Amino acid sequence: MAKRKLTTQQKRRLEGKRSKSEIDRAEKSEISDKSHLGEEQSGLVITSFGKRVLVEDNNANFFNCAIRQHLGKLVAGDKVIWQTDLEEHSGVVVSLQPRSHELSRPGFRGQTRMIAANIDQILIMAPIEPGVHPDMIDRYLVTAHQLDIPVVILLNKIDLIENDQQWEEVANKLLPYDELEIPIYPISTETHEGLEELLDALSGKNNVIVGPSGAGKSSLIQTLIPDIEIKVSELSESTGLGKHTTTNPILYHLPEKLGLVGNIIDSPGVREFTPTSCSLKELEQAYPDFDEFLGHCKFHNCTHSNEPSCAIKQALENEAIYPSRYQSFQRLREEFANKDS
Ligand code: GDP
Ligand code: ZN
Repeated sequence: MAKRKLTTQQKRRLEGKRSKSEIDRAEKSEISDKSHLGEEQSGLVITSFGKRVLVEDNNANFFNCAIRQHLGKLVAGDKVIWQTDLEEHSGVVVSLQPRSHELSRPGFRGQTRMIAANIDQILIMAPIEPGVHPDMIDRYLVTAHQLDIPVVILLNKIDLIENDQQWEEVANKLLPYDELEIPIYPISTETHEGLEELLDALSGKNNVIVGPSGAGKSSLIQTLIPDIEIKVSELSESTGLGKHTTTNPILYHLPEKLGLVGNIIDSPGVREFTPTSCSLKELEQAYPDFDEFLGHCKFHNCTHSNEPSCAIKQALENEAIYPSRYQSFQRLREEFANKDS
């Protein structure tokens, strides 16, 4: 008999299991008992927190919603079908409408972490302080190429530029992008310089803003969205979370008062963004400035690093390819190759 007695550890495990299955059952009955649910309607995910999301209905009201289990994780920008619960301002997301473009980044143990869904433009913020880093820009350009959506570069904090020499240094770093005809907007969220022109470029689009932390992404959103304080407090009220406690991306509408439609989704500053790994050929396609030299190397599977008679390295020597572009290409190529092996 004594042998059949549960050890304390076993007991604890069993209790733990029981309580978790009880929680699961309670959650399931909350979601599957449909008697208290309203009509199905469409909605937009504003942000996610824990296992729930904040959904905006067609009248701009927020609802704290549970998610049917099979739907997986939802993110800002997702379009969903949901039902209100009798409980005020809560509901259940019952289906997810097909996503168009989803921005994600590699997470732990080979998983991907979704950042935003249904986006159609990426705003890359490159700040004067702590510095404009072409390598970072190129990483986002590869992602934009993979998603086949346009990018805009925001050169922020131009108020900190003190002289012509500094302007020239920055302009030189951005030259490759200018030649690729990527729009570059010099702005300052401090002096508001360049913001009016920028708004025109954002309107009508579902934009996601990316860049290193400290670049000024939140400052830009705070400047562009006049009612931001109201939105933030509504958000914390509806989610039950304190202000600024969600680190997940949040979707903001561009100010309708200015006749603008469209959204801007912020994203957490990552120390270093890594695009989804892809084949050498696909990576080459993400560098349109390499185009005219590709196919002229001695080896058809040339990695453009140590091989003899490499057209890309020749172009680099002839200054027909910018060193910063070559370096970022090689860095990504090596990173992707290491992941595969
Ligand atoms: P985030 O991490 O990208 O969201 O960056 P923040 O918006 O928090 O900005 C980081 C710091 O840069 C803050 O101290 C801001 O006040 C400052 N900052 C943002 N935009 C500008 C700008 O245009 N000019 C100057 N001088 N500082 C700025
Ligand atoms: Zn080559």
